[in-house]
Amino acid sequence: MTRMLVFSLLFSLLTLNSHAKYTHEAYYVYGKQNLSLFAPYKELSIDHVSSSGFEVYGPKGLGQFIARINVRAVSLTSATRVQTAKYPSPENVAQRLKIATSKYPNIAQMTSIGKSVQGRDLWVIKISKNVRVNDNRPEFKYIANMHGDEIMGREIMTLLVEDLLTNYGKDQYITQLIDTTQIYILPSMNPDGAALAQRGNANWIDLNRDFPDFSESGNNKNTLDGRAPETQAIMKWQAQHQFLLSANYHGGAEVVNYPYDTIGDKFPLYDLVRGLSVEYATNAPYIGASKVFKNGITNGYEWYEVNGGMQDWSWHWYKDLQLTVEVSNQKYPDPSTTTYYYQQNRKALIAYIARVHTLNQSRMIRR
Ligand SMILES: [Zn+2]
Repeated sequence: MTRMLVFSLLFSLLTLNSHAKYTHEAYYVYGKQNLSLFAPYKELSIDHVSSSGFEVYGPKGLGQFIARINVRAVSLTSATRVQTAKYPSPENVAQRLKIATSKYPNIAQMTSIGKSVQGRDLWVIKISKNVRVNDNRPEFKYIANMHGDEIMGREIMTLLVEDLLTNYGKDQYITQLIDTTQIYILPSMNPDGAALAQRGNANWIDLNRDFPDFSESGNNKNTLDGRAPETQAIMKWQAQHQFLLSANYHGGAEVVNYPYDTIGDKFPLYDLVRGLSVEYATNAPYIGASKVFKNGITNGYEWYEVNGGMQDWSWHWYKDLQLTVEVSNQKYPDPSTTTYYYQQNRKALIAYIARVHTLNQSRMIRR
C-alpha cells in the first residue's frame, strides 16, 4: 500500500467536511528535509518550520503514519499540559477584562461576538472615545490566541487593554489614539483550546486553516457553511466593520509574518506590508534582533505555505491588511515572563495601531 493511500484511509474516517483541518494529533518532526514527506497532504497543518524541524498537526492516525514513514518525531501534546496550569483560565481572563472595561464606560466596551463550541463567549474589547458610537473614524483590530496553546498573545492583549485604558487622559499619545481611532481587541479567539491546552478548538479544528481559501477551488467562496463557530463569529464580525489594518498573534517563534501565506505571488502592497513588518520588529527589539529571521520578519509563503489562514482571508475579501506576529519561541513561557514580553512589544503594539491613520489618509487601499 502506498503512503498516500495509507494516510488517506486513516484520514477518510474523520473527514466531516472538505476543508477542515483536524488537530487530534501533534508532533514535532526533526529535520527540515522531511517537510516534503508531509507537505502533499492537505489534511495536515504544518507550522513553525525551522532548520531543526517543524510541527505537524493532523487527524487520528498521524502518529501511525509517522511511524510507518520512519522519521524522528516527538509527540507535542503531553509537554504543554504541565505548563498551562500556571496560566489563568479563560474565565479568569474574561473577568479581568470585565473589571478593566467597567471602570471606563465612556471609552471601553466589552461585547461577545459569538460563542465557542463549549459555549464560552468570544469577548471583544472596543476602545474608543464615545465608544458606543460607530462612526467613520478608522477601525483597527487585534486578534490573539486562535491557536489555543499559543498563550502569550492573549496575555499581551489583556495588558494592552489595561495599559490603554489607564493611560487615557494621562498619556497624550494614547489619548489622541483613543480619540481618533476605533480599536478592537479580541484577546482569545479560541478560549476552549486555551482551556484544553490544545491548538485546535474543542472539535479539534485548526482555526487558522479554517477560513475561506481563495486559492483552492471548492473553498474559494466567502461562506460560513461547514466552518467552526469561532471562525464563523470572526467572519460575521468582520463583515459588520470596515477594518483597515489588523494583526493576529501566535506563539512558537519570534517573527513578524507578512502576506501572502497562501501563494508565492508578490503581495500587491509589498513595500507597505514589508515596511510595517520591519517597523514592528524594530519597535519590538527582541524580534528585530532575531538570529533566525533577517530583521525579524518573513514572508508567510516563503516560510511555509498556509491554506485557510485568517491573514490572507482578511485581505482578499475585505482589504483589511493583516500581519501575523509570533511573539514567543515557547508556546508556554514561564508566566513570570509576561511582563517582559509586554514591555518588549508595547511600543510596537501602539505604533502599529496608529498606522491605521497612515493607511486611511494615504488611501492606498481601495475597497
Ligand atoms: Zn499559531
